[in-house]
Amino acid sequence: MERRFYIETYGCQMNVADSELMLGQLGRAGYRRVERAEEADVILVNTCAIREHAEQRIYGRLGELTRHKLRRPGVVLGVAGCMAQHLRGKLMERVPQVDLVVGPDGYRRLPELIDEAREEPTLAVRLSRVETYGDLVPARADGVRAWVSIMRGCDKFCTFCIVPYVRGRERSLPADEVLRQVEHAAAEGFREVVFLGQTVNAYRDGDVDFAELLIRADRVPGIARIRFTSPHPSDMTDRAIDAMARCEKVPPHLHLPLQSGSDAVLSRMRRIYSIDEYERLVERIRRAIPGIALSTDIIVGFPGETEEDFETTRRAMDRIGYESAFIFKYSPRPGARSAEWPETVDEEEKTRRITLLIEEQKERSLLKNESDIGSIVEVLVEGPTKRNPSEWFGKSAQFKTTVFPHRGARVGEVVPVRVAAATPHALLGEGVRAATFATVEDVLT
Ligand code: SF4
Repeated sequence: MERRFYIETYGCQMNVADSELMLGQLGRAGYRRVERAEEADVILVNTCAIREHAEQRIYGRLGELTRHKLRRPGVVLGVAGCMAQHLRGKLMERVPQVDLVVGPDGYRRLPELIDEAREEPTLAVRLSRVETYGDLVPARADGVRAWVSIMRGCDKFCTFCIVPYVRGRERSLPADEVLRQVEHAAAEGFREVVFLGQTVNAYRDGDVDFAELLIRADRVPGIARIRFTSPHPSDMTDRAIDAMARCEKVPPHLHLPLQSGSDAVLSRMRRIYSIDEYERLVERIRRAIPGIALSTDIIVGFPGETEEDFETTRRAMDRIGYESAFIFKYSPRPGARSAEWPETVDEEEKTRRITLLIEEQKERSLLKNESDIGSIVEVLVEGPTKRNPSEWFGKSAQFKTTVFPHRGARVGEVVPVRVAAATPHALLGEGVRAATFATVEDVLT
């Protein structure tokens, strides 16, 4: 009898890549993927635990999914990912209809675990020091972009983060396996690969460091672009910068999480760099790769963040001049070091701080995007926009969403687009009506 499974993914790109890995494993075990939970014998939710809010949302969703078990008692309901690892058996106590809880290092055995879960509640949450899944072929979603996890886990232990506890210690895939995956992605028609890792530039396999890996991947034919996320500033070596500058397929864009511009806060976060070191790194990167676009992550309201610390972050963002930024309000994660510290910034003040930074970043992003007006950008074509099927979009080399009149462009092609207008979120090619694309949601399909 054909077995059908349904998977829902929450959280970061690592989770998207892990879901593709699970899809590959289940496909090889004879399962067929279905797009609706009501059609499935196995329902899997691949979860995120990075914020309390994410967990609450997943609990809500699990509540909805349990009704499939009530209607069809043979259905297996499984929870995978960081929340599974974080809460383990507690998850089954809270939602007793859950049959399987599997952490990020248990996916190799997923088909067997599902069989076990048919018989009795099954928990597979042992973290591994060696599992990289390097030899497994993921079933990738269609599109121009293939995600390749090149390393797993994290050894940094930032005080606000639970990743090292739920994804285990840092380990890299063998370089040959990474390159095989890049070749495989190229053969499947993907045009861009994105190397993933919690601290992606800490990659190391024997003599092959992150720089060498970029250089080797750059030689794989068929791929137009190689990106990566997220690097840690303290692992951004001159060799890696040099490789980024030299590799033709590595575009001029870098997401470099700052988190805070205040040394006192950075130290409490255990980020292991100072603002001065970070800015000197940015200088070296800009010298080596002129015109590189930088994006970042910022947290406001970390325990102990004073008004002066916040103002220091504001000034740092202004000096560095990011093209874009993901800005978050601090929220404690049980299990992380900082969750033991009293919160010193109330919700109202966090809201004031985040609103200010978002507004200022929006203006900065607009100015940056407007400076592209009149120039020609190379766009990797992704498909039609949501608003207007005759206007398509893709990413420029600087990773800016760019809209352009279709005129026969094909998905996966790299086309030149002359920029005629800009919003804080997108570049608009000649012939595109600016008013149509006020937000990034208007663009993306
Ligand atoms: S580097 Fe810090 S923030 Fe990033 S995954 Fe590791 S512990 Fe978490």
